[in-house]
Amino acid sequence: MDLLVDPWIPVRAFEERHPQTITLQRLCCSEEKWLLNLPRDDMELAALQLLICLLQVTCAPKDDGEMRRRVAKPLDEAEFISLMAPWLHTFQLDHPQTPFMQVKGVEAKEPTPMEKLMTGLSGATNCAFVNQPGQGEALCGGCTAIALFNQANNAPGFGGGFKSGLRGGTPITTLIKGPDLRSTLWLNVLTTSRLQASFPVDSHTENLPTWKRPVASGKTFPAATIGLLRGLFWQPASIELCPPIGPGQCCGCGQQSNQRYNGFLKAKFNFTVEGLWPHPHSPRVIAEKKGVIEQKFLAFTTAAPSWTQISRILVDKETGQGEGRRVAMVVEQFREVYPRFKLVLIVGGYRNNQASILERRHDVLIFNEGWQKGVKVIDDIVDIGLEYKKALRRGLYTFVEGIKSSEVKGAGVAVHEVAERHYYRHSELLIPSILASINYSEPQDIVARLRKELHQLCEALFNQVTAPYAHHPKLIRSLAVARASLRKHLYALQPQGELAHGDGD
Ligand SMILES: [Zn+2]
Repeated sequence: MDLLVDPWIPVRAFEERHPQTITLQRLCCSEEKWLLNLPRDDMELAALQLLICLLQVTCAPKDDGEMRRRVAKPLDEAEFISLMAPWLHTFQLDHPQTPFMQVKGVEAKEPTPMEKLMTGLSGATNCAFVNQPGQGEALCGGCTAIALFNQANNAPGFGGGFKSGLRGGTPITTLIKGPDLRSTLWLNVLTTSRLQASFPVDSHTENLPTWKRPVASGKTFPAATIGLLRGLFWQPASIELCPPIGPGQCCGCGQQSNQRYNGFLKAKFNFTVEGLWPHPHSPRVIAEKKGVIEQKFLAFTTAAPSWTQISRILVDKETGQGEGRRVAMVVEQFREVYPRFKLVLIVGGYRNNQASILERRHDVLIFNEGWQKGVKVIDDIVDIGLEYKKALRRGLYTFVEGIKSSEVKGAGVAVHEVAERHYYRHSELLIPSILASINYSEPQDIVARLRKELHQLCEALFNQVTAPYAHHPKLIRSLAVARASLRKHLYALQPQGELAHGDGD
């Protein structure tokens, strides 16, 4: 199965439920409007990334004008065929010598079941609860390619010494969403002029994919020697699919398939990449550690909702001495090529504890037109949301712990944690809806209203979580002291400065 030729892309047409698998040519060249159609949002994101990477290496637009044309209109069929011609058999899942994202002759004691390739399906204590049984038993070629790609690029290694991908175990991926699948793809393909700046090609660069030139075991090499194709399709483990089994239903997409894969061989090897490979789909943080400037990709490390990360995902910042953060290159490109468009941003990733997946994250965040010039507003809204949460937590912490020096008794029950979860649940609706609708050049009124709403939310949540203890004689004083502490912290957040001038509340 050649990913550039055969029908493998799991989609459904707009306003239709009927799922089907189509070719890349039909996706790129027809006027039909498609959406990806897989039961798991992380696998849909992986399918999207895989498609973007295929177009990125085979036919990147040369400049912004060509990019805009590709986004707006389907490609001509003859042009598509000529663009793909040099790449035929490069991305072939069942190639007899160089199969896609695999190596031949993997030595393993026994085959690994396919479910190990479906990230988070096994290994975590909670996985039986969040996943339907039977998902990974046998996968069609398309779902197998998607799962291989996802495991290698977006997920932690298999554990037990298996390495993770070039972005670390659980990177956050940010992509631009267009009105349909075809436009979404082109919105995330970097132009060749931008590529030259980030991925210079010289005699030190290796750009054959790992299935044509496997990563040398035990070697250390600089990130800059990894070319674009090789990096986008990096495979950090030796994997070889077992021969396919006969026709039946695919457990990934649910489609009937003539050939299905139900297992693979895997083996680990070691390598060290010096520095960071500048993957175009992820935001980076740059920080000093023991006198050395280090870059790494952003990851979800807590259960806090995605809006708490928006500043890091969307706002470039230099915080002095080379430290700071950088948005993903695809976001940077969109900002430059479409300076007046609203942004629909897909944000996805896993949260892990070593090789186990604790959580799958997938959000679509919308930013109203004008966001390109409204980064200060975005920063402020996120800060406000975080500051009110902190005030609520601090007030309640006084209630939980008491104040020893004043003989104020603590309740000893972690109500501040409960309140934080409630706060996040409310804010998860509130803050994204503001970012989607706010007028970024006149934000004052909405920001003032947000402060008021969060202030009231903090008071309401404080009352809600302390209500069961309100009549406990020993805690009456503690509650009064804690309430005073909350008021003090909320008071300190009252509007000042340019964003909320005129609001006296
Ligand atoms: Zn499938």
